[in-house]
Amino acid sequence: YRATVLLLDQLGGRDRQYLLSFRDQTEAHRLERMRSDFIANASHELRTPLASLSGFIETLRGPARNDETARDNFLEIMQKQAERMARLIDDLLSLSRIEMKAHIAVKDQVDLTVVLDHVADAMRPLAADLGLEIERNIDPGPVIVLGDRDELTQVFQNLVENACKYGQSGGKVIVELKRDGDGIKATVQDFGPGIPDEHIPRLTERFYRIDVETSRAQKGTGLGLAIVKHILTRHRARLVVRSRVGEGSSFTVVFGQQRN
Ligand code: ADP
Repeated sequence: YRATVLLLDQLGGRDRQYLLSFRDQTEAHRLERMRSDFIANASHELRTPLASLSGFIETLRGPARNDETARDNFLEIMQKQAERMARLIDDLLSLSRIEMKAHIAVKDQVDLTVVLDHVADAMRPLAADLGLEIERNIDPGPVIVLGDRDELTQVFQNLVENACKYGQSGGKVIVELKRDGDGIKATVQDFGPGIPDEHIPRLTERFYRIDVETSRAQKGTGLGLAIVKHILTRHRARLVVRSRVGEGSSFTVVFGQQRN
């Protein structure tokens, strides 16, 4: 807390009046700490591939100068590290763009059946590469929400991509869309290893990963679900995560009553 004392009556002789005011700074401090943690994490994430690139450049200019096999091998690793940096920068830019729009209301009528069909089609090649099928269980007819079509596409793309990357042992991924009373629920379900309970509340934190090595191997940045959370906040929608270790996970986006 910050306390401020104001002398209200300078001339009032014996009966001076004071105003004592308190301002709660805990929230401001928390936000400031989150911001500086984020910058530290982002810098660290970018520095890791950069350090590896510098190391390989040095080796290629020195000891490995005339070693053709080493050179091909190193160049391939360097390309992967450069691609990793590009993915990180793309995700950081996405986050910052979404944050800038946080206070602008979404207003377009978006048909979720079209968005989900499009995402399921776009993800089929990745799913097939991982030996998975994408099953659709989508209510017929237009299911309209007020939203931003590109942002909602990104939400379901991230969820389906995660279901494929982390749930590949499950054989299939189900994309489901249901009207539910006044609300609308869109679910992406996988039958992979599932997520231990203690991780679930932290999944949407920036750079939070259950297993950093698996995430890196899957070309993850740790920002996918943070992007999802930011977009859904702008849409006044909630993300409900259910998971059982050994059985799989489901990520449900719950849209409230639509006023269109
Ligand atoms: P990443 O870029 O690492 O995939 P995300 O923010 O999309 O980052 O996800 C954060 C972490 O949550 C992932 O690293 C992974 O550990 C875990 N995760 C996300 N989706 C699933 C899923 N369907 N099954 C199991 N773990 C998941």
